[in-house]
This record gives sequence, C-alpha cells and structure tokens, in this order.
Amino acid sequence: MKGRTLLMIPGPIEFEPEVLQALGAPTTSHVAPAFVDAFGRALERMRDVWQCPSGQPFVVAGSGTLAMELAGANLVEPGDRALVVSTGVFGDRFEDLLGRHGAAVTVLRAPVGEIVAASAMEEELVRGGYKLVTVTHVDTSTGVRMDVTKLGELGRKYGTLTVVDGVCSVAGEEIRQEEWKLDIVLTASQKAIGVPPGLALLMASPRALEAFHARRRPVGSYYADWSKWLPVMKAYENRTPSYFGTPAVNLVAALDVSLGQILAEGMPARFARHALLAKAFQAGMDAVRLTQVPAKPPYRAHTLTACYAPEGIGIPAFLEDVKNAGAIVAGGLHPAIKDRTFRVGHMGAVRGADVLATVGAIEAGLRRAGHRFDAGAGVAAAQRVLLS
Ligand code: PMP
Repeated sequence: MKGRTLLMIPGPIEFEPEVLQALGAPTTSHVAPAFVDAFGRALERMRDVWQCPSGQPFVVAGSGTLAMELAGANLVEPGDRALVVSTGVFGDRFEDLLGRHGAAVTVLRAPVGEIVAASAMEEELVRGGYKLVTVTHVDTSTGVRMDVTKLGELGRKYGTLTVVDGVCSVAGEEIRQEEWKLDIVLTASQKAIGVPPGLALLMASPRALEAFHARRRPVGSYYADWSKWLPVMKAYENRTPSYFGTPAVNLVAALDVSLGQILAEGMPARFARHALLAKAFQAGMDAVRLTQVPAKPPYRAHTLTACYAPEGIGIPAFLEDVKNAGAIVAGGLHPAIKDRTFRVGHMGAVRGADVLATVGAIEAGLRRAGHRFDAGAGVAAAQRVLLS
C-alpha cells in the first residue's frame, strides 16, 4: 500500500516532485547569482501567470493574509472609504483588516451560498468616494466564485481601486488582470500556485502604484510597506541582489520552478483543466444526492467544492472514513454552516484519476454513514464528464 493518502483539501495541496526538490535543495545565500536569477525569473513569470504585462509583482515571506495586508496597508489611509464585497469568511476578513488600517468600511455581504450582484456593487460605488473595493474571487469557506470580469471597468468608472483576493483562484480560475483592468490580484503559494505555504504574492497595476505614491502619510505597517519592498523586487528583476528582509530562499526557488511548470502547461489549458475537473467532481456530488453550498451551478468554483453533508451525519467521523478510504478532505469553515459542510480542493497538480479516487472515497464515507445513493453513481457521473 502506498504510504500517502491523497491530500484534497483547499490548500495546502499536493505538490509536484520538482517543486519539492527545489524546496529541499541546499539553501544558498540570498545574494548568490543562481538565486538572484531564480528570483528575477519568478517575478517575470508571475506577470505571465497573472496576465498582467505592466504589473508590479511582489513576493514576500508570509501567508495569504499578508498578501491581503500588503494591499490594505499600502492603499488605505485613515479615513479612506472602502467597500468590501463578502461571500464568506475571507471577505469578512478584509472588513476587519481594512478597519485596522483606519478605513471606513462598508460591507455588501451575500447570504451563504449566494453572490453579490454587480448591480448591487454599482449602486454602492455610484455614491462615490470609495478609495477601494475588495472582492474575494473564490471564497474558500463557501466555494462561491464571483464574476470579476467586469469589476475593473466598474472601478475605473467610479475612480475606485479594485482588489481581488485570488488566494483560492490565481492559476486555477481564469484571470486576465490587465485586460480586466484589475488593480490588485493577490494570492498565496500553497494553493493553485503549487508551492508549500509561506509566500504572499501580489500583482499591482500601475494605477495602484500611483495611488500608493500619492499617499499623504507613511504606511502604518513596517514589514508590509511597499516602499521597502519595491526596490528589492526591482533589483532582483534586474538580476542584482538587494535586501530588506531575508527572502525565503528555498520557497522562492520552488516558486520559480512551479511558475515554469504552470506556464509550460499554458494558461488556457490550465484553466480548462480546472474547469473540467471541477465539473466532473461536482457532477459526482450531485449524483450521490449531496447539496452544494453555492446556490446555483454558475456560482460553483473550479478550485474547490463545498457540500452539505446529509442530515444527521457527524462531520469528524465522516472525514475520518473518507480518509481511510483514500482521500483527505476538509471540514467546514464558515461559522454558519461549519458543522454541516465539508470542502474538497481540486486545484494544481490534480488529475482526473485523483478526482475519481476522491469521489470514490466520499462514496465510501457516505455509505458508512448510512446515506442512501446508488453505489458508484458518483464515480460514474464524474467519469462521464472526464470522458466527454
Ligand atoms: N483568502 C482566501 C480566499 C483564502 O482561501 C485564504 C486561505 N484559505 C486566505 C485569504 C488567507 O490565506 P492564508 O491562510 O494563507 O493566510
């Protein structure tokens, strides 16, 4: 028996062997020529993955929450107005975070499983005076995906900076940052980017940098201050070493490898693969008669799926049974539905066979819990999509 169980949670995910090899290689100096080259290349590759040729990439040691903080700390000044569009826990996190930086925050909060309509956003933005609006592309607590294709237009129309939390979407869901005129798209290493946890990644548009340079007051956070990191990012991209805080040398080397793999797959192919795997997995869940958290199929993310467990099923025992059948999946996260839901990640280095194995393991868990469904119906439905 293989010593590992499939890790199918919404991050950290399964990582490619070459990425893990880069992580396990002997650590070099942060000024060693090979590292300077890897860092510079990783920054260039980010522009291609984000599809943002004129963007300024930032790579800073920390988790996705630091990426959120980099956006909030640098773009908000005390008294600025911010609009937070929330479809779950991570939207709510932005409310708290921006408040800490002194913003006057208005929240448009969708009921669990629902989206916030573009018309509702526009109604709020039209009132004017919003320095920035944040949208969580895929909220990992609900599995709901927001449409961000028109968000940038809306931001330009009303003079508002647009910030997309892409922690659970970048390199999995389609994003064309420059074409869609998004000012910030941020993420973390451990999800569809395919690198173990520890890097906050962010791409800023020229407009976002202009707003930063026009600040009246210094940034309240020392570590997150772009004026410390900008010269470092520019230097590495010009293949010269620089220092503010010691870079996470091995993680950055692993990032370079993973971004190279992502680009070798090609962005359109990668987005199509994620869409197909999601469709297959979600067809499997429908076929075993589970209700998904997103209220309508178009709201379902391509990177993860959140499902309600059948009534009366205890989540911890169910997760254990699914694990014993071969796949580690995650419990609920959103406080309102935490005890009734489970979540499955299907992003990054996931193949059709992994999806089939996971649907099969979930079927085993459901059967043990006494849920009624046709054995194999989920696997068959997923396979039909994969072979379509
Ligand atoms: N935003 C979203 C959408 C996320 O899924 C997460 C992590 N699950 C975060 C932000 C925060 O990232 P981290 O846990 O790496 O701080």
